[in-house]
Amino acid sequence: MTIVAEHINKLVTSLRSFEQRYEKPAGSVKLLAVSKRQSIEKIAEAHSAGLKDFGENYLQEALEKIEKLKPLDLNWHFIGPIQANKTKPIAEEFQWVHSVDRTKIALRLNEHRADSRLPLNVCVQVNLSNEANKSGVALQDAEDLCVCIARLPHLKLRGLMAIPAPLSVFDAQRVCFRLLANEFVRLQSLYPQMDTLSMGMSNDYEAAIAEGSTLLRIGTGIFGPASNSLA
Ligand SMILES: *Cc1c(COP(=O)(O)O)cnc(C)c1O
Repeated sequence: MTIVAEHINKLVTSLRSFEQRYEKPAGSVKLLAVSKRQSIEKIAEAHSAGLKDFGENYLQEALEKIEKLKPLDLNWHFIGPIQANKTKPIAEEFQWVHSVDRTKIALRLNEHRADSRLPLNVCVQVNLSNEANKSGVALQDAEDLCVCIARLPHLKLRGLMAIPAPLSVFDAQRVCFRLLANEFVRLQSLYPQMDTLSMGMSNDYEAAIAEGSTLLRIGTGIFGPASNSLA
């Protein structure tokens, strides 16, 4: 068995046990493998170990991988900051975008998603730490952006995403995730199609599960540290 497959098996065992511990439905927490700065070979290993969903942050790198891995029929999620002039390839090549944080980006993704395709699945990225230079809409502005996205025919509003500032204390991690989870539940009553709470990474996924995450975005925990120079 490859190291990647070992990591995935351990991770799945651990997330199933956390589902039980925090009384979440079995199988309610899904895994998104964050493959930024990881090789094609490692992605193929993760696919062999049973994963279908992969997250990428850097568009050029992602497009090359998507092209090379076409035969595997993977689901690609764009999770990085989005420049307005890059929305066309994102709308064309990805199945999901987690990092929509302004109306302009939503409108452009909608415009570039072809009629013939299924709608692009979209999560609104929320900035929980209110740091001025980080991506994400303020929590109190998430609803307005959801209202906008829900009206766009080529986008499907699926949920909320956040990358909280790294915290080492478990209870502090939970407090942060709970803010997002509460808003998610409130918005779900307006938009029942919202089924995805994208929160939790390698160092805080237990807290994310405890607070109701449905999709963990795990990089290092699956692939090991990312490389700086992808050959
Ligand atoms: C890199 C990244 C992750 C994965 O982080 P790890 O700590 O390696 O699990 C998750 N989400 C986003 C948006 C990222 O950029």
